[in-house]
Amino acid sequence: MLRRALAELPAYVPGARSPVGAAAFKLSSNENPFPPLPSVMAAIADAAVDVNRYPDMYATELTEAVAQQLGVPAESVVMGCGSVAVLGHVLTAFCEAGDEVVLPWRSFEAYPIAVTLAGAVAVPVPVADDGRLDLPALAAAVTDRTRVVLVCTPNNPTGPAVRADELETFLDAVPEHVLVVLDEAYVEFVRDPQGADGLAVFEARRNVVLLRTFSKAYGLAGLRVGYAVARPRPAAGIRAASTPFGVSHVAQLAALASLRARDELLARVESIVKERARMLDGLRAQGWTVPDSQANFVWLPVGDQASALAERCSRAGVVVRPFAGDGVRVSVGEREATDLLLGATAEWLAR
Ligand SMILES: *Cc1c(COP(=O)(O)O)cnc(C)c1O
Repeated sequence: MLRRALAELPAYVPGARSPVGAAAFKLSSNENPFPPLPSVMAAIADAAVDVNRYPDMYATELTEAVAQQLGVPAESVVMGCGSVAVLGHVLTAFCEAGDEVVLPWRSFEAYPIAVTLAGAVAVPVPVADDGRLDLPALAAAVTDRTRVVLVCTPNNPTGPAVRADELETFLDAVPEHVLVVLDEAYVEFVRDPQGADGLAVFEARRNVVLLRTFSKAYGLAGLRVGYAVARPRPAAGIRAASTPFGVSHVAQLAALASLRARDELLARVESIVKERARMLDGLRAQGWTVPDSQANFVWLPVGDQASALAERCSRAGVVVRPFAGDGVRVSVGEREATDLLLGATAEWLAR
């Protein structure tokens, strides 16, 4: 018999894929619109000849390279098949059955699924109307049963990043035995000077764990590499809870090549950040109220019109991601895609 928890599990809805051959831009999964760099493609091809072998289980070289780049000990970095998998391992390592995990909502749709699968209980706390996390409310939701609080910054799908001062106040209010997970999947896109510095917070607070990924800024979504940054003891626990040989050899070498090409990749991130500004300005000029975005997507809070707006965008050649009842998330991609989107949103307002 399947576990009862599975019956109530919300489905993860992947962003729609554009039909093969159709002229549509896929702005539905927060992917990097740039194809892999030639140097990364070459690393992938080199790695292919070794796929008859199991990969290095602890992704030693990649772990050391990431640790060095962050300025943390290698024992503090735990790799996994995307930060979604790593989040699952964190929850498995920290939660007993029935423990509570406080999380913002609406936020990343993988959260309630991961919490439920870990045997824990999700305690959702509404995101404010301006799309910002309500950190005082998240702190107030912590009880004796709380083991973990998830903080998504910038928040997917609404966009704003948590500010340094509000995060300090929040961490002061959360008991030290409660783990605070800062999910920084979009950290490379943050330009808000008041945005929290996750690494500095990690250095200063024993109960903070960071989650980061190669999927977004580094453009390796299809290879599944992400990691946690934690103190050595919790890190060892997360490692123990991980799927053995989770990160493939191909993914390890591609991530290493991406770290070597970091400047080139961050220049691409900068161009996405500029395109984000153009998208936000264009929408606001049309009269839309759009939350600040510090990530590679923007949020249109249209409530129960989400599916209808997504449908209209799709007909205009841009596939976006509706969240029923809440709004539409649009990933920032090609310039031409932004133009098509702005055409569709203008038409929508004039309907
Ligand atoms: C995309 C995303 C991730 C990363 O997913 P991967 O499993 O690393 O591809 C993690 N958290 C949030 C909030 C995301 O949007």
